[in-house]
Amino acid sequence: MPTEACGEPMPAPTTLSLLGTGKKGLRIHDLVKAPANTPWAKEKQQSWDASEPATVYTTPEVLADGTPCEAVTVILRTKGCHWWWSSGCTFCGYFNDTRDDVTGDDLHAQWEAAKTRFDRFANQAMVKVYTSGSLLEDREIPVAFQETVLRDCHELGKELVVESRCEQLTEEKLAWATSLNPSFTVAIGLEAYDDEVLRFHVNKGFSTASWDRAVSNLERFGLRIKTYLMFKPPFMNEADALDHCVTWVKAVAERSDEISVNPMNIQRGTVIDRLHRHDEYRPPWLWSLMEMIKQTHAFIHPNGGVNGGEDQVSRLIVHPTAGGKIRGSHNCGSCDGEVVAAIERYAVSGDLMEFHGLDCSCRAVWENEVFLERQLPLPLGLSKPRRGRVVDRLRSP
Ligand code: SF4
Ligand SMILES: [Zn+2]
Repeated sequence: MPTEACGEPMPAPTTLSLLGTGKKGLRIHDLVKAPANTPWAKEKQQSWDASEPATVYTTPEVLADGTPCEAVTVILRTKGCHWWWSSGCTFCGYFNDTRDDVTGDDLHAQWEAAKTRFDRFANQAMVKVYTSGSLLEDREIPVAFQETVLRDCHELGKELVVESRCEQLTEEKLAWATSLNPSFTVAIGLEAYDDEVLRFHVNKGFSTASWDRAVSNLERFGLRIKTYLMFKPPFMNEADALDHCVTWVKAVAERSDEISVNPMNIQRGTVIDRLHRHDEYRPPWLWSLMEMIKQTHAFIHPNGGVNGGEDQVSRLIVHPTAGGKIRGSHNCGSCDGEVVAAIERYAVSGDLMEFHGLDCSCRAVWENEVFLERQLPLPLGLSKPRRGRVVDRLRSP
């Protein structure tokens, strides 16, 4: 039996829980993925009809030339994202909407169903096709289906928007895609223009250098670039979230036609969901989003113009999903509706006047929180416990 210098016997290996037992350790990946394999998740996945798209809806949008239009968003039921299969981003709950047995025929059936439902998109000039992953990734989406979407949208004369990670956007792939549809928009979930945040907060699986490369390729083929940034990734306090996001917007603006800042919303079964349940994470304050817009406005509109102005560097869109709710970006509960509405109006108008006169007593609480977080080393922040009933909080709704 091993002994320490003092002669006392060392504990048996099985009791050395902190040091491990010498066996292969659990991978964090398996813990993170556990929710995707729970009975509720499996049951939900199998309940979907694989020949029907997850959802199809229309929204007001603006074309590349600034013309207002109606856009249709088609969210397809797919096998999901290949990065999720092997690891996955810390906030991504897309696994909730996918099923791993979707075939190419199912995807074609979903696409036909979407076209039929909206009369071959007769009233929509823009079509957004989202796959809970990357449309141009052959392991996720059969090439024949990629071809159908690219070709159909070109033949129908629609402005197409697809989503992709960076590694798919090679010269070879883009040469092939533009031979079928010479002009479309690629939206990339970059989340943060910061390698440390990408690696340790988001677990994104690519670096800022891969985004730079992907954007150079897209520029070479004359394709439009939309960049998604994440406001307040996990393990970050409110003050850092605000300061970082302002820096990232400025860093990517000149190479992006459009920037969409997505304030964190908590999706079920994700890492951020666990942090939130343990009161270790508060989704961003709406006041922070407003402040971020104010601090980046002059950069986005150097001559003070509003959206559509010739001077505009990039279009900045902030859409607080689940805004005002506990799991989305929120304030005190009484001013949320007004602030969300002003932020959404800004995305269309690009006019800071949208925020004129907005105030509430909770603004001082937010200001104080940001001030203190800048003075003290508080990586998880000092937000008060979640608002709402204490009993509900203790039950971790
Ligand atoms: S790359 Fe996108 S779809 Fe894939 S895990 Fe990350 S957020 Fe989810
Ligand atoms: Zn308030």
